[in-house]
Amino acid sequence: KSGFVTLIGRPNVGKSTLMNHLIGQKIAITSDKPQTTRNRIQTVYTEENGQIIFLDTPGIHKAKNKLGEYMVSIAERTMKEVDVVLWLVEPSTFIGAGERHIAEQLLAVKTPVILVINKVDTVKKEEILKFIEAYKDLYAFADIVPVSALKGENTKELLHTIFKYL
Ligand code: GDP
Ligand code: MG
Repeated sequence: KSGFVTLIGRPNVGKSTLMNHLIGQKIAITSDKPQTTRNRIQTVYTEENGQIIFLDTPGIHKAKNKLGEYMVSIAERTMKEVDVVLWLVEPSTFIGAGERHIAEQLLAVKTPVILVINKVDTVKKEEILKFIEAYKDLYAFADIVPVSALKGENTKELLHTIFKYL
């Protein structure tokens, strides 16, 4: 199996940490060679089950000017073309206008979206469950996977879940 995945989320939720953890875990190649004019390969994760190619996206936000509009259009196209979108969040940040905006954009895209709740090492189990319930009301996620990118908790399960959609 092999396919394309993109990772979205607010700054500081742990996107780089998660990527670095996945790279460290098994054979992986990082590359910033231009794949097409709009997508950049961030990481290629390889294991016996197959390959996951992570693509960079400028992220979704409300466009305030022409450049912003252009970046949003690139992000939307990336989101349509990948096999899976990983939406990374952290339990210390509640759902706000930004999250509702992303959810709205994702509805039009139809790509399966996996909600990845990172930094579970920082909160109690009950809090994670409440957090999951809140996000379930926001969007019909294909899957929800709690992880700790820093400690490498449940990241194997995350990879397994991604492969389900490739
Ligand atoms: P990015 O902006 O989304 O790429 O976030 P970074 O990967 O740079 O991480 C932001 C901060 O969160 C760093 O200080 C990380 O060490 C920390 N961080 C990332 N993942 C975890 C985690 O699973 N648990 C904890 N406690 N901290 C984390
Ligand atoms: Mg980063």
